Parts: sequence; structure tokens; C-alpha cells
Amino acid sequence: MTGVIIQRIKEIRQQLPESVRLIAVTKQVPPAAMREAYAAGVRDFGENRIQEAELKQTQLQDLPDITWHLIGHLQSNKARKAVEIFDWIHSVDSLKLALRLNDLAGELFLQPQVCLQVKLLSDPNKYGWTVAELLAELPELDKCSNLQIQGLMTIGPLELDVSESLALFQHTWELADRIRQKNWLNIHMNHLSMGMSSDYQLAVQAGATMVRLGRIIFGERTPLLS
Ligand SMILES: *Cc1c(COP(=O)(O)O)cnc(C)c1O
Repeated sequence: MTGVIIQRIKEIRQQLPESVRLIAVTKQVPPAAMREAYAAGVRDFGENRIQEAELKQTQLQDLPDITWHLIGHLQSNKARKAVEIFDWIHSVDSLKLALRLNDLAGELFLQPQVCLQVKLLSDPNKYGWTVAELLAELPELDKCSNLQIQGLMTIGPLELDVSESLALFQHTWELADRIRQKNWLNIHMNHLSMGMSSDYQLAVQAGATMVRLGRIIFGERTPLLS
């Protein structure tokens, strides 16, 4: 197995524009594999569970320059810990959560970078704002001065074909552009976090600045025992 992860990362990087940030999604991936990714130059790691991320940060504390990204749904009662241990939170999916994170960030003297998670197609499994909800709540979000609101995040529903996925990512880009037209104090639209192993090339074509890749780097995930 040794070298496979490094090889895969090399191949992916060759296809990605220089400006696109590769986030290695390491849920259920052991620290040894993360070290390989690190050796291949990866400095951005994405996790979807607080506890697992905390454990890995301990296990990898000799690697000082990692940027940690939370990409999974965040429950309110874990918000404080999330602000403490993540540099980026991609999955801010409601005004209530944003306000809570903003308060906590103020208390902790931290200014996390966040993305607003949007849901452009109805998908019962996915969290996020609809377009109408988000546009209505932007004035409130703009007051969250402890958050660095950097852009939008989206997850494509599984069942989309190529043209539907591309359209979804393009619509996300257009939404960011539309938001950018207004002069917000605090809302920036510099980033689009979109694209996973199965659809990242389409996302990049549509203007993604961050792709979140798990299986294509580390192989299929096997559910952890216990
Ligand atoms: C698991 C996950 C990914 C990575 O998915 P792969 O198909 O393994 O590339 C990306 N984004 C989110 C939000 C995820 O939960």
C-alpha cells in the first residue's frame, strides 16, 4: 500500500488548477494514512465529527501546520468545541447556528472562517439554506462580525447525472455572484466549497475553489468497528 496515497494525490493535483485548494477528507481514515497525505504536501484536512477530529489532532500534533476543516453537520451543543478546534467550518447551515458560532467566537476571541451551506435542490438528506431562505437572512448573517464568511458550500445529491451536477455547481456559482453584487460588510464570496470524489472535476469547471476529496485519495471507507 505504501506510496499509493502519495501517487493518487500527485495525479489529482496535476489535474487541479493551482488555485484550487484540495481538502483531504479523512473521516474514518487512520492517522498513518493522513501522514502519507501530509508527506505528499496536503495541509488541509476535512473531518465530519468533532470527537474524531479531536483525537486525530492529538495523534498528529507533531505536524504543526495543518488547517482543519469541519465539513459535516454541526449540532448546537458541539458548537463551542467546533470553534475551538477547527479553522474552517464549511457546514454552517442555519441562521441559528451562525448566531451561536458568532457568539462563541466572540467569547473565545477567535474568528473562524466559514462557508454557508446551501441546498439548491431539495434533498431530504442534506442540510442547508434554500436560495430564498439564504437571501432573506443575509442581513442578519452580515452582522456576524466574529465570523469570516468566505463563501458557499454545497453537496450534490447522489443521483445526479453529469449535466445535472454541472448545472447545480454553476447555479451555486451564480448564487455567490448574486450575493457578491450587494455591498455587505462582512459577507465575502471568495470561496466555493464544492466537489467530492465523484464530481469534483465538474465542480472545478464551474468555479470551485475548494474540493473535498475522500475516497479518491484513501480508497473506500470501511465503517469503524464499535
Ligand atoms: C465524506 C464527505 C466528502 C468526501 O466524499 P468522497 O466521496 O469520499 O470524496 C466530502 N464532503 C462531505 C461533506 C462529506 O461528508
